[in-house]
Amino acid sequence: MRVGVLALQGTFIEHIGILRQLGVEAPLIRLPHELNTLDGLIIPGGESTTMLRLMESFDLIQPIRKVARDGLPIWGTCAGMILLAKDVSNYEMETLGLMDTKVKRNAFGSQVHSFETDLEIPLVSEEPFHAVFIRAPIIEEAKPSVEILSRLPDGTIVAIRQNRLLACAFHPEFTDNLRFHSYFLNMVSQKRSHNSEDRILRGSQLRS
Ligand code: GLN
Repeated sequence: MRVGVLALQGTFIEHIGILRQLGVEAPLIRLPHELNTLDGLIIPGGESTTMLRLMESFDLIQPIRKVARDGLPIWGTCAGMILLAKDVSNYEMETLGLMDTKVKRNAFGSQVHSFETDLEIPLVSEEPFHAVFIRAPIIEEAKPSVEILSRLPDGTIVAIRQNRLLACAFHPEFTDNLRFHSYFLNMVSQKRSHNSEDRILRGSQLRS
């Protein structure tokens, strides 16, 4: 299994470390053609405007939209979640626009308002998941097509899934808990087995 990590800026080294611990091939992705051999892609945390500008300079925006349309599982953490959203309420930026969400950047204020907390995320982990929020965004609105995986105690949405797209406002790559990464790898392997079923089906249709 090959899960690439967008490596323009931000927490890509941390994601790659965890993927390797989980025995997954984890190439750094910087160029459009590198997207073609992947089973999954992670867009890390960092600074969303910087990452977006670099994605523009490296001609990555359309190619990422295309692999997403073709069904590649993609997971965005923190800034990555902002880049996946269709709408950002407090900033003029054209994102990748792949998830039916409206997000708010820096929703908890500046760096001093960063915090850590234990979240209930039943689909990801039986135990509470220790989550690190750093100048984090929140999901202000999610269409019914979006499954809500976790909320803060006040109801704020902080983790979501929409088919093959996954996003969270915090940084699982900064903890030793591998469950969120394992959850994403499960999504990736489901897609892979779906692809091979398709191939077998197409083969049998050709034969019949
Ligand atoms: N505040 C950052 C942004 O708007 C996101 C922070 C993060 O990824 N930790 O891009």
